[in-house]
Amino acid sequence: MKKVSVLGSTGSIGTQTLDIIRRDSENFSVSALAAGSNVALLEEQAREFKPKIVAVASADAAKDLKTRLSDTDILVLSGEEGLCEAAAIEDADITLGAIVGIAGLKPVLSAIEKGKDIALANKETLVTAGDIVMAKAKEKNVKILPVDSEHSAIFQCLDGRSDLNKIYLTASGGPFFGKKKADLESVTLKDALKHPTWSMGAKITIDSASLANKGLEVIEATHLFGVTADKIEVVVHRQSIVHSMVEFKDGAIIAQLGSADMRTPISVALNYPDRSEVSGKLLDIFNVGSLTFEKPDTDTFRMLALAFKATKAGGTMPTVLNGANEEAVSAFLNGKCRFLDIADIVEGAMENHKIKEKPALSDIFDADREARDFVKAKFNL
Ligand code: NDP
Repeated sequence: MKKVSVLGSTGSIGTQTLDIIRRDSENFSVSALAAGSNVALLEEQAREFKPKIVAVASADAAKDLKTRLSDTDILVLSGEEGLCEAAAIEDADITLGAIVGIAGLKPVLSAIEKGKDIALANKETLVTAGDIVMAKAKEKNVKILPVDSEHSAIFQCLDGRSDLNKIYLTASGGPFFGKKKADLESVTLKDALKHPTWSMGAKITIDSASLANKGLEVIEATHLFGVTADKIEVVVHRQSIVHSMVEFKDGAIIAQLGSADMRTPISVALNYPDRSEVSGKLLDIFNVGSLTFEKPDTDTFRMLALAFKATKAGGTMPTVLNGANEEAVSAFLNGKCRFLDIADIVEGAMENHKIKEKPALSDIFDADREARDFVKAKFNL
């Protein structure tokens, strides 16, 4: 029986994870649940999965949840400390990190500190503090098992090898594939939220439309697989059938294929090194049709180019890219800026930033705050 602490349990990845656990209750149980503020769903989840701890971000939400769960012996915690406690709960064997944004970083680090293996969906953890996180995981002999579908694909293709030539990181291209800047002048939030192949949370869906998500994934891959960004080629693959590929030194390319269902990569991470059945539609290989691979348009989708620039610059620059992007996406979601403004805002923050090399965790949080303050003030968000 594997015991799981599920961080971000009320979100898209969190609920799909609980679905896997629900259907495989002989092999999995839940030790802790954590989320932001959706207490109604957390109550439901807590009653069904009976964790020892439930943690929420805000004290108000915790108060409400405590009342709702007063007839149980579940401990309700709040704030960063509470989230970290849930992440690192003694009882758990593995912690699934699916809180969105940099808010997921400290809980994941706490779990690593306590020697928990990590099933990692929260890409911002590695984008902002990849060197620190990977070094800590090595020190504590902890496995970081990728949940992001592309990184799960690469992980499966590599199968423990490191003699690669190149990683082909696939991208669906998002809802605006083929459009040029002029076409994107007046796109609406509704247009941007229409992802062609994947159903995901709002922030990552906007990031997919701007290709910021692919940029964050490039940075995530450099840390997970110990390669520089020049070994990573982003490939637009509209069908989302091939989830990524690895070219080895001898020229062989290995790809991982499957339907666009996050339950497969979540299951790969939770069950590693074993595999387990997953409910859902399997890929019908005879219905796949043609598979296409194209170069991305980085003039139109500038966030991808900015991510390559940030990872090459190193130090605190990827943190600034991430923090400015989180603020810009939140502004776009709230109707305070246009879609095309996102890249301008992020570029402005990067130009304003003085890089700190080999940052400590405190430098990461300082750079994140500086980037957010800068974009809020400069762009009036
Ligand atoms: P959602 O927006 O659907 O869910 C986010 C989760 O994080 C919710 O449980 C939310 O709680 C919680 N949360 C938000 N803010 C805080 C906070 N300050 N403290 C604690 N919890 C918080 O996101 P997704 O599930 O789509 O994505 C989660 C992560 O996984 C992201 O980093 C994303 O990039 C990554 N990912 C997602 C994929 C997908 O298919 N969805 C694919 C690959 C990676 P509440 O509901 O209470 O607000």
